[in-house]
Amino acid sequence: MISKSQKTYKIITFGCQMNARDSEKLAGVLEEKGYVEGIDDVSSDIVIFNTCTVRENASNRLYGRVGYLKKSCMENKNKIVGICGCMMQEKDEVETIKKKYPYVKLIFGTHNIDEFSLYIDRALSEDKRVIEVRDKALGVERDMPSKRVFPFKCGVNIMYGCDNFCAYCIVPYVRGRERSRDVKAIIDEIKRDIADGVIEVMLLGQNVNSYKGKDTDGNIVSFPDLLDRVCKIEGLKRVRFMTSHPKDLSDELIKVVRDNENCCKHIHLPVQSGSTHILEMMNRHYTRDSYVDIVDKIRREIPDVAITTDIIVGFPGESEDDFEATLSLVKEVKFDSVFTFEYSKRTGTKAASMENQVDEKVVKDRFERLLKEVESSSRTNIDRYIGRVIDVLVESKDREKGKLTGRLSNNYLVHFDGDESLVGKIVDVKLIKPFGFYFEGKLC
Ligand code: SF4
Repeated sequence: MISKSQKTYKIITFGCQMNARDSEKLAGVLEEKGYVEGIDDVSSDIVIFNTCTVRENASNRLYGRVGYLKKSCMENKNKIVGICGCMMQEKDEVETIKKKYPYVKLIFGTHNIDEFSLYIDRALSEDKRVIEVRDKALGVERDMPSKRVFPFKCGVNIMYGCDNFCAYCIVPYVRGRERSRDVKAIIDEIKRDIADGVIEVMLLGQNVNSYKGKDTDGNIVSFPDLLDRVCKIEGLKRVRFMTSHPKDLSDELIKVVRDNENCCKHIHLPVQSGSTHILEMMNRHYTRDSYVDIVDKIRREIPDVAITTDIIVGFPGESEDDFEATLSLVKEVKFDSVFTFEYSKRTGTKAASMENQVDEKVVKDRFERLLKEVESSSRTNIDRYIGRVIDVLVESKDREKGKLTGRLSNNYLVHFDGDESLVGKIVDVKLIKPFGFYFEGKLC
């Protein structure tokens, strides 16, 4: 219950896990200042939009919502609307906001989120708007407070930025070059989280496999080594990581996942295309065959592992043969789940200036065909779990259906009857019936 005198905030997040984690930090800063989470953006005193710019038309959704807040800003002169995140690293977007949305009082980019507290103070006290966007990071972000969405699990950034320059992706331009956090800073943060009730962490980075942080002696530590150290922290029941790039997925990493019981048996390994020619055009640095070899190795070494992926349909120059290669890869690999995307031209990337863009109708048609293939081939995976009793972390209770939702180590979901007091605990559940990427189960 929020009292009338209480100042409120709302954070609206677009995009990936990294942005979700950043929003927890923004919320942490505001809670430290005495704000509480409000009911919605219209009634809240501070509204922050944490933006994503991976899709070309992401701005339409943002501006629609920002425009809607004009009336409430006129009525509450002390209201602060702020915009941050990847989109603010693009000069044109900042100019648009400056011209069209004079009531947006705060704009800042991805490289200085750790100065958010200062910016809020300035936005509250200064008459002019606060605009702070940097071209590049000055170093690794400083520690920030955070307000977790789930009390029992959280993300932990291990690195920022990306050096890979995949031809379709804007991330290296807006998030900057790769910067890894020191091992001690990561481990200390996780120990604090555990002391605060966390039992599951997800290590986050655009390409976690290329992590190169330093230990206290100044030695470089690889991602498998870091993961192993994190898994051995006392009290940590589950460890996940996201995202892995196939070109950097080593035997050592497979071994660490296999040998640590609390390391979740789920690897998200974006393939993007089944055609080696297209992978080359995408600048992905692996072939269809080398990808299949990695998947085979993972499955040989880690029983019950779930492998999920991302696929882009209609990348410039994708022929019918290239697309058929993607369909056949899906059939061959039998992913546990696939996130499918229609290629959309993203200004500022190498792919946007390629001449052989694929006709929109063709892209849509291929997308539908891919979805059908994904549905039929991933269904065959889930059946093998039926009848087994598996430990799940209970994440929430659906108030309408009255069911609990839990997550298996390999990231599959299960719905079952049970008391709300089990949320945040690990329990045994018998998997009874499959439905796509989730099960119906029974508490044991
Ligand atoms: S690895 Fe490629 S797709 Fe992923 S963030 Fe880096 S450039 Fe983008």
